[in-house]
Amino acid sequence: MIFEPELETLPNDRLRELQAERLAATVRYVSKRVPFYGETLSAAGVKHADMVPIEDLPTIPFTRKKDLVEHYPYGLLAVPKEEVVRVHASSGTTGKPTVVAYTAADMDLFARVVARCLALGGGQPGFTLHNAYGYGLFTGGLGLDAGGMRLGMAVVPASGGMTQRQVTLISDLRPEIISATPSYALTLAQELRSRGISPEENSLRYAVVGAEPWTEPMRVEIDATLGVRCTNIYGLSEIIGPGVANECIEERHGSHIQEDFFLPEVVDPQSGDPLEDGEEGVLVLTTLTKQALPLLRYWTGDITSLSHEPCSCGRTFARMSQIKGRTDDMIIIRGVNLYPTQIGDVLGLVRELSPHFKLVVSREGLLDEVEVRVEVTEEFFRAVSVDMLSDEVVEADHVLRSCRERTKTLLKDSLGVNAKVTLLAPGEGPRSEGGKLSRIEDHRNLN
Ligand SMILES: [Zn+2]
Repeated sequence: MIFEPELETLPNDRLRELQAERLAATVRYVSKRVPFYGETLSAAGVKHADMVPIEDLPTIPFTRKKDLVEHYPYGLLAVPKEEVVRVHASSGTTGKPTVVAYTAADMDLFARVVARCLALGGGQPGFTLHNAYGYGLFTGGLGLDAGGMRLGMAVVPASGGMTQRQVTLISDLRPEIISATPSYALTLAQELRSRGISPEENSLRYAVVGAEPWTEPMRVEIDATLGVRCTNIYGLSEIIGPGVANECIEERHGSHIQEDFFLPEVVDPQSGDPLEDGEEGVLVLTTLTKQALPLLRYWTGDITSLSHEPCSCGRTFARMSQIKGRTDDMIIIRGVNLYPTQIGDVLGLVRELSPHFKLVVSREGLLDEVEVRVEVTEEFFRAVSVDMLSDEVVEADHVLRSCRERTKTLLKDSLGVNAKVTLLAPGEGPRSEGGKLSRIEDHRNLN
């Protein structure tokens, strides 16, 4: 179902008009209300700030994470503090968190766009939503909560962690749809299986997963082990939280961006120049109706591409491809640019491996070393353990070495990276407990 069909299927020219009107209003609004924007817009020579046509969008400077950090906590607020009804914060790698604020109207928008996303992912009024995103300062838990209720679902606020209890709740309350990070969805699937509940037996039919870059092999695994069709939800707290975009259940090929509220661009990571559809670059978003923290051309750091191809679901909103990584997640190993998701895609080709992995980067002398620590599947682990116990140690050793060697060769052949491969037992790899998961441990001192 489409939650707001009249808006989500707007003809392209009408959508463009609406965006242009809202962009002009937003530029006028921030230049008057936020000193930071008043200054940056006039410094950039954006004249007649109240009449910026949409074609002139590239003349507006980018807003970056550092601008939010420098104005911590409330320096970019466009409303008096008394109008703020909610604050969320995300932990920054730089130490200081980023604080984002919402008015009552912003909270209403938040619920609407998440409701749209849940409907995109298969949700329907009358369903029960098991929400395994962490509740708290992180926007995931409370965002999905509000959107689930707005769509007309019963929300189970399971939050992150306490996996045993979550599985009991899923068995007893029989939710049709679940929201979680992809890595936690897999943790829950494993726990269901260890209790002898098969994917067909559990009540789940849909999963809306996101908040961390994930891969196609993970999609296959989540679908199979949870017995669902999963879709990607995309968002970031600076823009609103989850709810910016979601794949439709019909195609699961790119996430529809809620373009009437968030204006997307993809730009070259180096030059900042706008790129064409299909070209990969950094996603830049402009909020079109937000009150407390409107942002112009926010540099998300996420690498993606846009498509305006018509979609069989009927929605006219542009689609963004699965996030390949963040510009900050990209690691350079001996001159090769690498995103963790690319490693994940290669690991997915090895039958004995699970999608749980971590990269450890270090430097020996002048050379970078990368170690891929990846869990093997339960089946493989069991088979090898049986060999070990029945004194077939040589055979088990051989099987493990062969798995490591094949993985190493595939990584070399597909990505050009020489990695050390370490196999972990099931459960030893990194898991998210409802929040974001980091897949890189970088021990190089690059400063
Ligand atoms: Zn679609």
